[in-house]
Amino acid sequence: MANEVRVRFAPSPTGALHIGGVRTALYNYLFAKKNGGKMILRVEDTDQARFVSGAEDYIMKALEWCGIVPDESPFNEGEYGPYRQSERKSMYMEYAQRLVKEGKAYYAFDTSEELDAMRQRLKEAKVAMPQYNAITRAQMKNSTTLSEDEVKAKLAAGEPYVIRLKIPKKEEIRLNDMVRGWVLVHSSVIDDKVLMKSDGMPTYHLANVVDDHLMKITHVIRGEEWLPSAPLHVLLYKFLGWEDTMPQFAHLPLLLKPDGNGKLSKRDGDKLGFPVFPLDGEFPDKEGKMEKFSGYREAGYLPDAFTNFLALLGWNPGTEQELFGMDELVDAFTLERIGKSGAKFDINKAKWFNQQYIKSKPNEMLAKFLLETLEKQNIVCEEAKAIQIVGLLKERVNFPSDFWAQGVYFFNAPSTYEEKIVRKKWTSEAVLILSEYATELENIEELTSETAKSTLLVVLDRNEIAIGKIMQSLRLALTGAGMGPELMEIIALLGNKEVIKRIEVAIEKLPIKQPE
Ligand code: GLU
Repeated sequence: MANEVRVRFAPSPTGALHIGGVRTALYNYLFAKKNGGKMILRVEDTDQARFVSGAEDYIMKALEWCGIVPDESPFNEGEYGPYRQSERKSMYMEYAQRLVKEGKAYYAFDTSEELDAMRQRLKEAKVAMPQYNAITRAQMKNSTTLSEDEVKAKLAAGEPYVIRLKIPKKEEIRLNDMVRGWVLVHSSVIDDKVLMKSDGMPTYHLANVVDDHLMKITHVIRGEEWLPSAPLHVLLYKFLGWEDTMPQFAHLPLLLKPDGNGKLSKRDGDKLGFPVFPLDGEFPDKEGKMEKFSGYREAGYLPDAFTNFLALLGWNPGTEQELFGMDELVDAFTLERIGKSGAKFDINKAKWFNQQYIKSKPNEMLAKFLLETLEKQNIVCEEAKAIQIVGLLKERVNFPSDFWAQGVYFFNAPSTYEEKIVRKKWTSEAVLILSEYATELENIEELTSETAKSTLLVVLDRNEIAIGKIMQSLRLALTGAGMGPELMEIIALLGNKEVIKRIEVAIEKLPIKQPE
């Protein structure tokens, strides 16, 4: 298909995938699906020094958890593979050499000492941006200053070299970014970027552009941090003669810290009180020291809540709608509705999304979370009962772990009682009603929420006491707290014997409020 939309997510496996990276992957995925196109996962692993083993695996697992399934990837080869740049190593030199032949790039033989000396010289001359460019190039050891024979001799002798792009001295480079509009950059601010390194590996810039071309990428959707590289990439397309099929660019706004003060970075780790990675893990930091970090998955976020939340950080549907399943996101997504300004990260909003998604899940699915926790504590519970419990609690929880935290009284009798409620509500009247209630409950064959209530009403009527006066004391005796879900349902789930026992224990333990 000639006009098929093809986008790529191109992470470098240098560590864990930051949530900003997940958002980039998500937007690429949504855009591909919306347009009936393909999303490609390309692993950009040409920088051997920064390669971290396990990072690629982490990236795959994170995408999988989010429901982002690339159409072509190292694990699902398509016709444009291989999809790891290290496996495409042999493809890049040809393009760099072509540029050299056409006078658009050159060999440079400068040693690192010579490069340092050049920078030092420029610094002393108060040059604002000391760099290898159209001016300094003329003073360095490269194929623009050496004779053809000298270059040949050096190459034949195996002298280490890099290939640099010959950035024109005076040229205005323009690109029409789909998010940012026209971006104009003067070539004088760009340095002669290295395309091929002395180890024979391409740099990011060359490999990225060559691969985007060979993989027939139509749209490059990536983070704003790559915007400064975009003019260079545009120049490379032009020099390589690929201008006509150059992809369209869309640079995504930054994810900002909650206070809007700076970029939310990998280095923030758990310092801000919330994870910045999708899954938990452990990777070496810059000094090689292993660093553990937490993830949204382990913090109890549901993947669809997480992706919904991320989708709205930088994109908006133009309506009030906030809850979007993946299919709805695909339907609604357009690059035009991506904002230019940075999106502030708000963990409370993430919690809100999680709560909404938990509420919308079937009780059968939620019960699994509770059963898992119970199993770890060797508490036996029938599935049907767990299903009822989560059904009662799900309006009140933010995380799956809250089912246990908020429903512990279904399994363990309270060992403490909310003091304020004891002080206010544990009256002699309450004790009288509850003990009569306990006695009545003994005679009930099958306790349901209805019979639990009608029995209570019988006792209350007999004593001419309103139900509102007694509910909190009853709840206190059974759960230890003054608030919670529908009490009659709790009673039905606990069963006669347990309710009677808990009332008796409370009567024995709690001090009765003295009349004022
Ligand atoms: N490998 C780059 C990264 O790690 C890809 C940037 C791009 O998408 O062009 O983010």
